[in-house]
Amino acid sequence: MPKTIFRKPRRRVERVFIHCSASDNPKHDNIATMRRWHLARGFSDIGYHFFIHKNGKISKGRNIEKIPAAQRGNNSGTIAICLHGLQKEKFTNLQFKAIKAICSDINNAYFKNVSFHGHKEVAAKACPVFDYKKVLNLDRFGSLGLDSTIVLGVENSSENEFQRINYGDQGDKVRELQKLLSIKADGDYGKKTLKAVKSFKRQHGLYNSGVITREVWELLKKPVLENVRTEDSSKLPELKTGSRGASVELLQELLFINVDGRFGENTARAVRNFKEKHGYYPSDLVQEHIWKLLFKVRRVPHYE
Ligand SMILES: [Zn+2]
Repeated sequence: MPKTIFRKPRRRVERVFIHCSASDNPKHDNIATMRRWHLARGFSDIGYHFFIHKNGKISKGRNIEKIPAAQRGNNSGTIAICLHGLQKEKFTNLQFKAIKAICSDINNAYFKNVSFHGHKEVAAKACPVFDYKKVLNLDRFGSLGLDSTIVLGVENSSENEFQRINYGDQGDKVRELQKLLSIKADGDYGKKTLKAVKSFKRQHGLYNSGVITREVWELLKKPVLENVRTEDSSKLPELKTGSRGASVELLQELLFINVDGRFGENTARAVRNFKEKHGYYPSDLVQEHIWKLLFKVRRVPHYE
């Protein structure tokens, strides 16, 4: 699959929505027309992030860092892609090739921890009119069934991807390990790293020695799947330094800091500041009442 123009935004993304433009008119096969239509509807810009022309070209629409205005009530945490077309049989194979390519790229960028949906799944609409589930080979949860290769988040050549390291080692591989453990990345496998490694291995039922084998690397790199499609603070987990996963991404989004899903020093500092500012003891612990407060004061308003 070719690399597309997709670049992972800093905001949290959990779902991708597919749309159609409801027009087969070649004069409408461009971003400018879409933007005009959406501005006329009172949007601040075109609602979709990507627009796929009949010739298979993918154009950028709304800034990917911005929440789309595309699925009322379901815009937060999404990416919106629109294919130009109205009648089912008039969508082109080039368009299908393009949607497959960009969805594969998105899927890879999120370690498959993202699902794909048609607009009609959340609205009483026919959009998109083509059989997107078949095109993208989706299962009933919206997981992409295309043959997309997992691209690892940490830049590394594949030959030393699972390089065995141990206490006393130094260098980039140690730094990578430290980042995955959300501890200070100084590239020095000393006592602090050993402690974090042992604790991680213990949590995963492994013998708690300091050696990092392929098995441990794979566990460290595995995305943590959680259901965070909720603003019900009682359903969100307690987080602290070392936590990982989608709920950490949500937390980071609410704190307006870089979103990487890892609760490290940066996140701890932001949590402490936030808690102090609101009269709480400035620890790094995010409990239910802190989630509740975050939703109350930090939820960014947008089109829904
Ligand atoms: Zn739609």
